[in-house]
Amino acid sequence: MPAEPSGPPSPLGSDGGGLRDLSHPIDDGMPVYPGDPHVQLSPALTLDRDGVAVTAMRMGSHTGTHVDAPSHTVAGGRTMADVRLDELVGEALVLHVRGLHDGQVYDWDLLEESGPVPEALPPIVIIDTGWARWFSGERRTRHPALAPHAARELLRRGMHVLAVDTLSPDPTGGEGFPVHEAVLGADRLIVENLRGLDELPTRVRVGFFPLRLGDDGAPVRAVAFLPAEPRSVRGGTLVSD
Ligand SMILES: [Zn+2]
Repeated sequence: MPAEPSGPPSPLGSDGGGLRDLSHPIDDGMPVYPGDPHVQLSPALTLDRDGVAVTAMRMGSHTGTHVDAPSHTVAGGRTMADVRLDELVGEALVLHVRGLHDGQVYDWDLLEESGPVPEALPPIVIIDTGWARWFSGERRTRHPALAPHAARELLRRGMHVLAVDTLSPDPTGGEGFPVHEAVLGADRLIVENLRGLDELPTRVRVGFFPLRLGDDGAPVRAVAFLPAEPRSVRGGTLVSD
């Protein structure tokens, strides 16, 4: 076991080195989107028998925290082979939308509850509904969902990547995938199943690093690059740029 890092905890909940891990662990039997392949991890080679330890993995391309390529819902859309790494790294606006109930569709007014959404958006918009805490249980499927109108407005304002802490920005088990069709249909990207968004600053640099798969999506290691020092505090409010 590696030693626990010593010293006081880093500001803003760093997982070490000023990084915060925004991805769920990939485990055997972990929760998946209804109908997706189950995740199976098992020892293929073992130290005792083979001299090396190697795990066999069976899972879907949309396992855990992952990115959707346009080809996920758009026939002929770009695949992950066409998605550049720099599309998934950059400045993010974090919208904390809390107090939502099961299955609630949140629209523009709730996105603006803690302040106006800028007219010119950074490339990545992260929506924190607080639902990541339900990821392990059945309630994960009753997550809140983004109103298609609000998704279209985020696109109009320049969003390139829509990132959410739910199984999907569309209702799971609902009819159709209107937000997927709006975002992926505009040749942009969706990231699903983020975690660790609590207290993330309103503006933060993030990276969603996908496994180098070439098809409809890929698991990502999602990382927030936290400010080195706590930002200036004015009137009890964390001031971002
Ligand atoms: Zn997906």
